[in-house]
Amino acid sequence: MATNRKILMLPGDGIGPEVMHEVKRMIDWMRDYRGTAFEVQEGLCGGAAYDAHGTSLTEETMADAQAADAVLFGSVGGPKWDNVEREQRPEAGLLRLRKEMDLFANLRPATVFDALADASTLKPEVVTGLDLMIVRELTAGIYFGEPRGTDTLPDGTRRGFDTDVYTEPEIQRVARVGFELARKRNNKLHSVEKANVMELGVFWREVVTELHKAEYPDVELHHMYADNCAMQLVRYPKQFDVIVTSNLFGDILSDCAAMLTGSLGMLPSASLGLPDENGQRKALYEPVHGSAPDIAGKRQANPVAMMLSYAMMLRYSFDMDDDANLVEQAIKNVLGGGLRTADIMQAKTAKVSTDVMGDAILREMGKLNR
Ligand code: NAD
Repeated sequence: MATNRKILMLPGDGIGPEVMHEVKRMIDWMRDYRGTAFEVQEGLCGGAAYDAHGTSLTEETMADAQAADAVLFGSVGGPKWDNVEREQRPEAGLLRLRKEMDLFANLRPATVFDALADASTLKPEVVTGLDLMIVRELTAGIYFGEPRGTDTLPDGTRRGFDTDVYTEPEIQRVARVGFELARKRNNKLHSVEKANVMELGVFWREVVTELHKAEYPDVELHHMYADNCAMQLVRYPKQFDVIVTSNLFGDILSDCAAMLTGSLGMLPSASLGLPDENGQRKALYEPVHGSAPDIAGKRQANPVAMMLSYAMMLRYSFDMDDDANLVEQAIKNVLGGGLRTADIMQAKTAKVSTDVMGDAILREMGKLNR
């Protein structure tokens, strides 16, 4: 049995350890019933690391993350650490991981499970069957660009400013992730900017167009303005397959797309770095939700976002598409059968705890695996 897939698990705080526990059971199940072995290491991050070591991420854990093939991350933060100094806040540990691993491409799928189409604020016919992916650039653009700050003009007027800036390689590397994903999915990519009013938008469009011509002529490429994209996401979201965009627009559009699906407890994400000489990318997988201190320790957390993050890891870090499909199909079937955690309760469904949901999904995986 090969054991060369090295995972670092960082469950974090609040509901993080509870939802990660369900993934651990899934990993054990896959070892027992599909012969899939991972080398799993566990570490502390966020408030848990602060309590143990006085820092939200130790040097050792940072080194373990760099050495792992993939990091599975739960969630960090909570009121307990509200007064901790800024550099040691739980969130600082996560930001450092993203920065030092150079995770520049943030993948946020928005998938609507048929059984949950009613949970969306949009009409079921608009969202049923929705399956799109937003690729947001994560390490450059306006959140990092210089100059930034506030100053006072000679006439005494105060002003604030940030700079939206991308180099050609920064646009190319995130666009490549978008094109590659499109090739694995429905072969359609929307590149989103504001070329009508921003110089950077014109440049972004030019770079993506050149890359398309040179390396990905087989992919159907569309350019769209960010404001139109926001509108199209709520008007007719099924027109999209993969969307690639900058940090700022991606921040806004991915939250908008997330809400099409109706629940925070269902949303996974991946953050990817550049491939090394073996084609292996540094990668971190985490649910979109936070540590949910209001329900922590109550067995109420929905484990599905964490499980779907694990499925993304199987697919994007280890090319284990069959195993990823098994996890996703089991989740679909269990939801279709009417089991729900409290956050996604609907009429005529049965409310279950985190672990009972985990049991049901594992049982379903067993049935599908026969
Ligand atoms: P949150 O996502 O933790 O919770 C928002 C609401 O959604 C809460 O009512 C919560 O109970 C519910 N919820 C979230 N995940 C759920 C799940 N899996 N199942 C059922 N219900 C779920 O956001 P928040 O309340 O704004 O933040 C709480 C803490 O988490 C803060 O300290 C914040 O900084 C941190 N946070 C961390 C991350 C991260 O680790 N990546 C992301 C967002 C927020």
